[in-house]
Amino acid sequence: MKYTAPLAHMRYLLNDVFEAGKHWAEMPAFAAIDSNTVDAILEEGAKLCSEVIAPLNRSGDEEGAQIHNGIVTTPKGFPDAYRKIAEGGWVGLAGDPAYGGQGLPKMLTVLFEEMLYSANNSFTLYVALTSGAALAIHAHASDELKQTYLPNMYSGKWAGAMCMTEPHAGSDLGIMKTKAEPQADDSYRITGTKIFITGGDHDLTENIVHLVLARLPDAPAGPKGISLFLVPKILVNTDGSLGARNAVTASALEHKMGIKGSSTCVMNFDGAVGYMVGKPHQGLAAMFTMMNYERLSIGIQGIGCGEMSYQNAVRYAKDRLQGRAAHGAANPQGVADPIIHHADIRRLLLTQRAWNEASRAFAVYVGLQLDLANYHPDHDTTVKAAQRVALLTPVAKAFFTDKGFDACVLGQQVLGGHGYIRDNGQEQLVRDARIAQIYEGTNGIQAQDLLKRKVLANGGRWMRDFILEMEQDTLLASPVFASEEDAVLKACSTLRELTLWLVKQDKRDADLCSSAACDYLHIVGHTIYAWLWLKMIATNPADTDRHVLGRFYFGRLLPQIHALDAAVRSGPDLVMDLPVDKF
Ligand SMILES: Cc1cc2nc3c(=O)[nH]c(=O)nc-3n(C[C@H](O)[C@H](O)[C@H](O)COP(=O)(O)OP(=O)(O)OC[C@H]3O[C@@H](n4cnc5c(N)ncnc54)[C@H](O)[C@@H]3O)c2cc1C
Repeated sequence: MKYTAPLAHMRYLLNDVFEAGKHWAEMPAFAAIDSNTVDAILEEGAKLCSEVIAPLNRSGDEEGAQIHNGIVTTPKGFPDAYRKIAEGGWVGLAGDPAYGGQGLPKMLTVLFEEMLYSANNSFTLYVALTSGAALAIHAHASDELKQTYLPNMYSGKWAGAMCMTEPHAGSDLGIMKTKAEPQADDSYRITGTKIFITGGDHDLTENIVHLVLARLPDAPAGPKGISLFLVPKILVNTDGSLGARNAVTASALEHKMGIKGSSTCVMNFDGAVGYMVGKPHQGLAAMFTMMNYERLSIGIQGIGCGEMSYQNAVRYAKDRLQGRAAHGAANPQGVADPIIHHADIRRLLLTQRAWNEASRAFAVYVGLQLDLANYHPDHDTTVKAAQRVALLTPVAKAFFTDKGFDACVLGQQVLGGHGYIRDNGQEQLVRDARIAQIYEGTNGIQAQDLLKRKVLANGGRWMRDFILEMEQDTLLASPVFASEEDAVLKACSTLRELTLWLVKQDKRDADLCSSAACDYLHIVGHTIYAWLWLKMIATNPADTDRHVLGRFYFGRLLPQIHALDAAVRSGPDLVMDLPVDKF
């Protein structure tokens, strides 16, 4: 499948809609970034993704990651491509320059990440896990661990992996069993089995740095008894050179529906040497630094899949001749008209485009909040931005991936039977996109995180503040867009009233939160997309094509919030009344 990065839209979001330069000027870490640097990064990134990484997507799916005699290999071409992106400094794009990272803003790097995922989901996961592990090490590890590991991870010499899930412990990590025994030299011996570990072993890098959740002997039961350990595949000598093999092995690869080029490993830790990251029993909180990074990243996987689906489907729809257009022949010399002239096909294409562009805008917005939270000199600004990130990360993860998967299925529909067979690449996209709704915390768990911890836990205050920001911003739009403005304000008030209703009902029924969370998250997602569509069209009123796309969003997609609102308000009884033995 051919991939062309949507550079014009990416530049429009950065430079015009979110005025990146204005924000960067306020943050000393980014003050030196100019538009030439940004352009070069986007252009070079686009080239790398379409010329080097996308061509490995199909062959990577067909060959898959493999294990023979305990040695894991990635598909042909992956090691060379990984070397190229490592040499180009792409792995450490957002990393701390003090350890060899490029120190670029997240609102820019999210766009490169989207390109990577569009080009090749499986390949990108190795990069994403490395960046996320490096972020957690940077935030919580000792200086010594940082000095030893970060430069090698940012340079792409060593990769990272996240080891949490166990056979009996997935969403509920509080019941995990892997053990950590303290040693006289301050290291630990880690023993246990982790499953489903992305990039747990592979041949892309000379070392792999596992971040592993485990329990100390005196650990209290539950999530407050989990600590975090850095466990290298190959031990590192005091002079930084590689030493003996650590007792960490991949015993099997999972056979799975998609992302076949990504090695999903069963990992055995047999008294492996590890080093504590952060404080005893506070490992889950430290691991959340990595998890939150991966949640946004996996959300971006959804955007990448949606964009690739759209590009594939548009190409096909302009080429495939079937039937005559209802409004008169568009191709009178031919046997039939290209299917793009049928209104139903246009509905399928426009729905994908409307999701993709709003998702991209939302990713840039969340990237901006991350930059403000981490780098802005004003304390109040960082506190507010950090709250925004906490509130919006589960929305980004779940809404991007739900809409990304929907886009892939809609794209498949455009291709008809040719979307179901292998040749056109569309069925791989559907298979690859599906996992993003499941891993990194299922979308059901994301929705509960949003409603329970980020909304109800503070009486809805964070959400109310965010709604107010969207309303105030909306009121700045030109009167030319009065009907769209009205639609955004109505969506905001639907969301505000529903939030208030949920806060009031919360204590009355234990099942309310779980029954309402997914639909609530989708209402939040829709409201944000309406706000961002207005922002996108109002930033450049002369762009009448984008206005057409925005009108499609407001007219055809936003009204879904009314059905979702009614579903939430119908209460939990409708899903809880049927006794378990009647299922
Ligand atoms: C290809 C792949 C790659 C992965 N990569 C990694 C990795 O690199 N590292 C890692 O540690 N893990 C990884 N995972 C594991 C992944 O994160 C888990 O599969 C996921 O978090 C869900 O856990 P589970 O599969 O045990 O499902 P379960 O936790 O058993 O959940 C089953 C269902 O019950 C729902 N559910 C569970 N609890 C609740 C609740 N309290 N309320 C309402 N609903 C609930 C869930 O939403 C889900 O629908 C990977 C998984 C796959 C398939």
